[in-house]
Amino acid sequence: MKLVLIIVLIMISVIAVVGTYMINSVTSYNIDNFLSQMNAVFTPEFILTLEETESSAADPAQELRGILEAYSGSIGVDSYRSFYVLDASTGRYLAGSDDSLSTTLELTPNMLRAMEGQVGDDVERLGRYFDVAIPINVQSGEGYIVGVMDTKQELDETNWNLFTILIRAMLFGVLVAVVLGFFLSKTITTPIERLTDQAIQIAQGDFSQKAEVYAQDEIGELTQTFNEMSGILQDNLRTIEDERAKLDTLFTHMADGVVAFDTKGHIMHINPAAEDMLGRSFWPQARYNDVFPDLELDKSTMDEDGKFIRADYSVNKRSLQVFLAPLKIGDANSGVMAVLHDITQQKRLDDSRKEFVANVSHELRTPLTNIKGYTETLMDAFDEMDAETRHRFLGIVYSEVDRMTRLVKDLLTLSRLDYGRLEVDPDSTVDLAAIARSTAAAIDMDARKQGVTVTCHLPERLSPIRGDRDRLQQVVVNIVSNAVKYNQPGGKVDLYASERDRQVVLSVADTGFGIPEEDIGRIFERFYRVDKARSREKGGTGLGLAIAKEIVEFHGGTISVVSKEGKGTTVTITLPCVTEEQSHA
Ligand code: ADP
Repeated sequence: MKLVLIIVLIMISVIAVVGTYMINSVTSYNIDNFLSQMNAVFTPEFILTLEETESSAADPAQELRGILEAYSGSIGVDSYRSFYVLDASTGRYLAGSDDSLSTTLELTPNMLRAMEGQVGDDVERLGRYFDVAIPINVQSGEGYIVGVMDTKQELDETNWNLFTILIRAMLFGVLVAVVLGFFLSKTITTPIERLTDQAIQIAQGDFSQKAEVYAQDEIGELTQTFNEMSGILQDNLRTIEDERAKLDTLFTHMADGVVAFDTKGHIMHINPAAEDMLGRSFWPQARYNDVFPDLELDKSTMDEDGKFIRADYSVNKRSLQVFLAPLKIGDANSGVMAVLHDITQQKRLDDSRKEFVANVSHELRTPLTNIKGYTETLMDAFDEMDAETRHRFLGIVYSEVDRMTRLVKDLLTLSRLDYGRLEVDPDSTVDLAAIARSTAAAIDMDARKQGVTVTCHLPERLSPIRGDRDRLQQVVVNIVSNAVKYNQPGGKVDLYASERDRQVVLSVADTGFGIPEEDIGRIFERFYRVDKARSREKGGTGLGLAIAKEIVEFHGGTISVVSKEGKGTTVTITLPCVTEEQSHA
């Protein structure tokens, strides 16, 4: 539209300028023509002739008219142009080529000038007529004025015709300009429109099409550059996309939690590990305070370079270590990045290690204090003591040393189990029934002393299991001795064994004190005892079941406890039998 309008405006301006110039030229030509015609007629000699005629004639006006009549061809008299003879003193029309002038003639500036004795030949371009007026013997109050007057009508008609031709030409030209302009602008706008469509498609992420190059002009060059640019853009976007995908995978699967906040404290990114650690998922617009409701930041935990702040944070029974660092994009600060480490396991291990060391120290200190106390008393008052007391004291020292030895032995076993130093000969297979029988026999003496009957309900033999004989024996000893220890006179201990689904099952049931329900879950913990005093009195270390569990699990089996306080306890172990392939191997 703009292009068409410009073309039309240019065309109208050109025609207007040309038209004005032409009309001006025609007017000037007419005036010049008129004046040169008049100069050619009214020569000084002709004027002299006129003057002589005037002074000698009886009716000068008619005489003058007669002479001018004879020249009417040269003067160009026609219906628009006429000559006249005026009375110089009054300006009255006396004679002429057109008598109607007698009523219509008005005195023109040229005539007035002639009445004063001067030639009047000024022609105004914009006046209503052209005229010349020549004084003939004009002295004060006498003489005549001859002149020619043209109404300019012919010139006006010519100019009007010219004007209408120009207007028609203009209308036609506008029509042609509109049509031509339309097609011309089409050739420019079509490739631009295509480029625009292409740009819109690229903005929507569709790089599949290329804009066609129609000509090797500026627009063609622009199209080519545009195509090259879109190719480069596509490559760059693909590279960025690949990088983003890599980072995304890393971000999604990394073990550490990452949460990024913008400068207003809204979540920008959060990875699944972070949501898992914090125990819930968050809306995209969640704020810092929603994620870390009571995280206390302390400047003292800032690292030396001031790059991050470290804080400990617990949520949902998890211990987290949070590192907060400013998130920089370029030089601008665009938020805060929080990295979360789950240190729950580490903390738990740390706590249990501390607890273990404390327990071990305590367990060792008690017998040592007793040994020291009794030996000191023995040394100080050896002579004053009777033999029986000495013997009793030494017996106590002996049993304390014995307890310490057992404790150290148990600790060594546990540490071997912890470090995986327990080795099993791959060819060694054992029969759990035989182990149970020999254990029952070994313990029988002690049991009898306590008034407890141990009974075996065992098959002749059980399917072999792969394992370490001594260790498995230790498991059974620990379980059976507990059943005897935590029993009362008249109590019973029964050993049962059977096979189920390629598993050997051994149960030791007693009629002892039983274990309170709330303690059952903890009796496999190291040093955990339900009744500390009783355990110690019975020479227990608090490690028996822990060791049993470790060994059974090392052999791929399970251990479980069912107990009722005051009624008795049944401990069951299950161990896998040697498979067909193993036995053939
Ligand atoms: P301890 O050396 O003290 O016997 P254990 O690890 O063998 O240590 O057992 C842990 C605790 O479990 C014991 O102190 C005791 O309180 C309880 N317990 C184990 N076996 C029995 C049982 N058969 N009857 C009752 N309580 C038992």
